Amino acid sequence: MTFDVNKIRKDFPALEQKVYGKELVYFDNAATTLKPSVVIERLSNFYKKENSNVHRGVHFLSQEATTAMENARQYIKEFIGASSTSEIIFTKGTTESINLVASSFGKKFIEKGDEIIVSELEHHANIIPWQLLCEEKEAILKVIPVDDAGELDMEAYKNLITSRTKIVAVAHISNALGTINPIVKIIEIAHHRNVPVLIDGAQGISHKSVNVSILDCDFYAFSGHKIFAPMGIGVLYGKEKLLNEMPPYQSGGEMIKEVSFEKTTFNELPFKFEAGTPNVGGILALESALKYIKNIGIDVIESYEHELLTYATAQLKNMPEINIIGNASNKSSLISFVIKGVHHYDAGTILDKLGIAVRTGHHCAQPIMTRFGIDGTLRISFAFYNTKEEINIFVDALKTVIKMFL
Ligand code: PLP
Repeated sequence: MTFDVNKIRKDFPALEQKVYGKELVYFDNAATTLKPSVVIERLSNFYKKENSNVHRGVHFLSQEATTAMENARQYIKEFIGASSTSEIIFTKGTTESINLVASSFGKKFIEKGDEIIVSELEHHANIIPWQLLCEEKEAILKVIPVDDAGELDMEAYKNLITSRTKIVAVAHISNALGTINPIVKIIEIAHHRNVPVLIDGAQGISHKSVNVSILDCDFYAFSGHKIFAPMGIGVLYGKEKLLNEMPPYQSGGEMIKEVSFEKTTFNELPFKFEAGTPNVGGILALESALKYIKNIGIDVIESYEHELLTYATAQLKNMPEINIIGNASNKSSLISFVIKGVHHYDAGTILDKLGIAVRTGHHCAQPIMTRFGIDGTLRISFAFYNTKEEINIFVDALKTVIKMFL
């Protein structure tokens, strides 16, 4: 398929609107992506016609919804290259996926004095569940440091792993700096010491082609809303062998085989980890989003977004008032920066009034802000529907902001 950004933009109704009378420039894709019409229609059609609970109904609609949901699981399995649908667990999103692993893997495998490794650039969702687990089990949280460019110190990482290390949990791509972490190497090093690895794929899934079997990661977590699907649906991929050994995370309907007051036996994978009514509409819309992406081609997306990154970076580097935070050699289409002498919140507020949606603050990654001695940044993050023209509008607006404050 040839990449025609103007044609693609027509798929996203949110891009047609104006804010404060200005054309919307949406540069907050790392927070959440816009949704194409096919995804919105899929969700709406489920509730219009197919609405029914799954796995427990004898009637037509329930059986149709169950088949559609399980077909979606199959599609997602293929999209990320998992070996079996047993390895695809539906969750609310990355946060819940990581909490599931921290809680369940933690219950089974973490003991007093064990060690868990995360990195300095993690989102809070990949820090706090491990921190709470460490408190509960009297385990130790160890942190891979980040250098001045925003890259993980791989030598330090190697030295952090000991015979007590029980799991490594790192981001595929940093939401705060845009750094693409060398996850192949990270997994290889951990596996050499028989340590499983969880990849927080919240930012990775929409920008990189992911094949969990080739990566050989033990867990991969992502959120639908960051890959053009609705909010409230996400996925945890886990290796079947590990998931089988792990106890249930939540309990209730769907996740059981037999229940009596004396004893309950649990359902097989993946249902063991899916207590309660699932987000069926969200699952079907996620399938639609992944099909939409696949049709454009994730490699095509990646190279177009890289063009946007290079174009925007060059312009920002030309502005002496701007300091880019995170200059990793391998970066995704996201730029975090500060304007010397201007608070990020003030700048973000003016940009908003000019029709430009950016993110300001610590991006739920306070430790990496502390590492760089700042309390927050302005962040622009691109998706494949963004354009160089939008970057030009943004740069002009930024010049206006700088003139106002300096
Ligand atoms: N991890 C990373 C790297 C993220 O960027 C985010 C969200 O911004 C999350 C985890 C949490 O994702 P969610 O809020 O969809 O659960």
